[in-house]
Amino acid sequence: MDTIEVKDLVKKYGDVVAIDGISFNVKKGEIFSLLGPNGAGKTTTIKSILGLIRIDGGEIKVNGKDIFLNGKEAKKNIGYLPEMPSFYENLTALQTLQFFAELKGVDEDCMALLKEFGLEDAANRRVGTFSKGMMQRLALAQCLIGKPNLLILDEPASGLDAIGAYEVRKKIKELNEKGVTILFSSHILSEVQEISHRVAILNKGKIVAIDTIENLGKKFELHPRLRIELQRPSSYVLNFVKNVKGIEDAKMEGNVIEVICNPAVKTNVIKAIEEAGGKIIDFKTIEPSLEEIFIKMVGRK
Ligand code: ATP
Repeated sequence: MDTIEVKDLVKKYGDVVAIDGISFNVKKGEIFSLLGPNGAGKTTTIKSILGLIRIDGGEIKVNGKDIFLNGKEAKKNIGYLPEMPSFYENLTALQTLQFFAELKGVDEDCMALLKEFGLEDAANRRVGTFSKGMMQRLALAQCLIGKPNLLILDEPASGLDAIGAYEVRKKIKELNEKGVTILFSSHILSEVQEISHRVAILNKGKIVAIDTIENLGKKFELHPRLRIELQRPSSYVLNFVKNVKGIEDAKMEGNVIEVICNPAVKTNVIKAIEEAGGKIIDFKTIEPSLEEIFIKMVGRK
């Protein structure tokens, strides 16, 4: 049984078809991301999975339970981070978590949770005085109340600076390593690429691609880029490389030769360089970026 099962989901707002018959499953233990431009339908999909809005068609199960027919059971094990979390400004961080623990009806060590998110020193500070980064950490801590096996995070790094976003990504990975299944939405391509196992690319309420990042690259013939640093590069060596079968593009910048090629011919590239007398100092393979895939699929940034 998969942790989330979405089948033929349709959601309309008046005449606007926000979600146009999408289906996907999130497997147990997976980090699955919904990627798409503004208005693609990410938040609507998330709210549907959480049973927060009425849907116009389809079926959604969480942990095997229908979210609408058996909502209480289905929601028991979900932690949710909304796109813009908001708390009572006058409560302290500790009081906030205690309040949510009470709402959920669970006995939680809230101080330990604050500690886990580096907020122990701010436990007795009013939430209204928190920075955006601290708020987001508190919001993530709130999600973990009751030890859910599924976290649903809507744009978890939204509005955070680079360090804040890095910390959130690190936390997501850590939680996943502890066995928590994660569904998150994002329009930050590098974030999706760094932490997702699989991704669904949404555009105008439809899934335009769904796969692992590696497979999406293969499907759209986006080949890896080889960065080969040479001791003394020359156009002679570059021409040798260009003649290897399966090369899409090869260029030289400084002492680096960059090659886009079918992964199967990587070793032939190395051989060609050595045959031409080139001395390799360093060699790196850069996988195709999700941005390239995204532009191909959606047609715009
Ligand atoms: P963003 O990245 O901007 O948050 P999103 O991918 O989460 O976008 P949604 O918020 O799910 O997209 O919106 C999908 C579509 O549904 C958009 O066309 C949006 O304008 C529309 N929509 C969303 N909520 C409502 C609403 N309450 N009333 C009317 N239309 C809505």
